[in-house]
Amino acid sequence: MRQHFVICSKCEKTTSAFHRAYSGEHLCRKCFMRSIEDKAAKTISKYSMIGYGDRVAVAVSGGKDSLSMLYVLRMLFDQHPNNGNELVAVTIDEGIKGYRDESLQIVKDFCAQLRVESKVFSYKSLFGVDMDESMVLRPSEKMSSCSMCGTFRRRAIDIAAEAVDADVIATAHNMDDQLQTFMINLLAGDIERIGWICPEPVQYATGMKKVKPFIEIYEYEIAFYALQREIPFQSEECPYMNESIRTDLREFFNRLEKDHPGIKHNAYNSMMKISKSLRNAPASKGKKCSICGRGSMGDVCSVCRTVSVLTSNTQI
Ligand code: SF4
Ligand code: ZN
Repeated sequence: MRQHFVICSKCEKTTSAFHRAYSGEHLCRKCFMRSIEDKAAKTISKYSMIGYGDRVAVAVSGGKDSLSMLYVLRMLFDQHPNNGNELVAVTIDEGIKGYRDESLQIVKDFCAQLRVESKVFSYKSLFGVDMDESMVLRPSEKMSSCSMCGTFRRRAIDIAAEAVDADVIATAHNMDDQLQTFMINLLAGDIERIGWICPEPVQYATGMKKVKPFIEIYEYEIAFYALQREIPFQSEECPYMNESIRTDLREFFNRLEKDHPGIKHNAYNSMMKISKSLRNAPASKGKKCSICGRGSMGDVCSVCRTVSVLTSNTQI
């Protein structure tokens, strides 16, 4: 039987390795990798995510997204040495026995290979409890593993970025993550949080900016990129991973995309418009936590609330 090879629609020379259904393009390995790197560079410049001389802290977990982002940023910074940008990887150790150790080693080795400084910050040192302890201390299963962990992680990344003297915090959220987060907040009635999703960087009182250079890239394209670039990533699954609604939403959007290529893009564009208008609404400006003094939606922030529930449970 004769085999049909499809030629790359960009370089028109090499056999295609990837079909981008929503654009109709067939891309060879090289052109595919370049398309991801170009897309990240365009997103960075479109939203003025990184300025000249900025020191960028990349939140690196050891998964495919964050290691790919570190790789892409290293490459972009090397291409423009006169911009004077610096890179530092910050990794958060949740304190989950048997799970974090593998990724900490992967991050350490990969950073050494890329010549990137790396620092680890643990929940235990920042909040006095780690995830293994929190799972025992929580008063009920209503405090789900991933919601406690997510609350701690967001704060830990902020503290880590301040500690390494960064001007910018880059996280590897992709388009799928953002669609799921939007829907989760919508379904939970958490409208104010929708304002946080939009890709225009939030600038904090400290002057620190939060950016997401992969926000306009599909999750499976990043997975394919990591594979093509032979970027090592963690294989161990977290023992506390809960089957949250996020998993259902991921499958829902993937099913829609399969039948209607490009629908995620359309949904993303609409959601970002909504997010932007909510971010500008006066109600979303927030207050200050009466315990730690950081930005908060209520009188006490979610981190201080979680820590206080966990520690008061210890004293019982
Ligand atoms: Fe934390 Fe959940 Fe991720 Fe495990 S799966 S590291 S508990 S957010
Ligand atoms: Zn607080």
